[in-house]
Amino acid sequence: MKYYNFDIVFQEIPDEVTLAVNISGCPNRCPGCHSPHLWENIGTELSEQEIQSLLDRYGNAITCFCIMGGDGRLDEVEKVAQYLHKISDLKVAWYSGRSEMPAHFDLFQYVKLGDYRPSHGGLDSMDTNQRLYRNCDGKAVDITSRFWRKKVDQMSQERRNILVHSTIPAMQV
Ligand code: SF4
Repeated sequence: MKYYNFDIVFQEIPDEVTLAVNISGCPNRCPGCHSPHLWENIGTELSEQEIQSLLDRYGNAITCFCIMGGDGRLDEVEKVAQYLHKISDLKVAWYSGRSEMPAHFDLFQYVKLGDYRPSHGGLDSMDTNQRLYRNCDGKAVDITSRFWRKKVDQMSQERRNILVHSTIPAMQV
């Protein structure tokens, strides 16, 4: 299983500083895919040595390692998760385009499920078909609404504004 690139991100997993590693060879072919270059099997093998080298460089700066993709290689995704648990205390997340929870859910602290549908949008859309689950003592808890907080706050502010404006008395002429 190869990865194309990586980045340290703050939004993908709420409350975590995440090293997001983009896996190539994606078999999902979502219409409107934001990263069609990841359909090809390109990049560097995500071997144990490569993971160790990523952690040597970034391990102290992050709280979570997120495997972004790898739907065609579930066995490899699980091996990476197992290895990460063996060599670190980092949380392990998996961003998958599948709709079913992996059989070994216990290997992950977070799992994102669902293909990308342009008409529904990503996790930050309130119409999304995608879901992010947190593993709470083995139970999958849906925390997708964490991505909507900003939007909900914005909507509440807009409602407050409407209320304030509608209670200002009309000027007497
Ligand atoms: S899972 Fe992601 S990378 Fe793969 S086809 Fe869908 S949007 Fe593209």
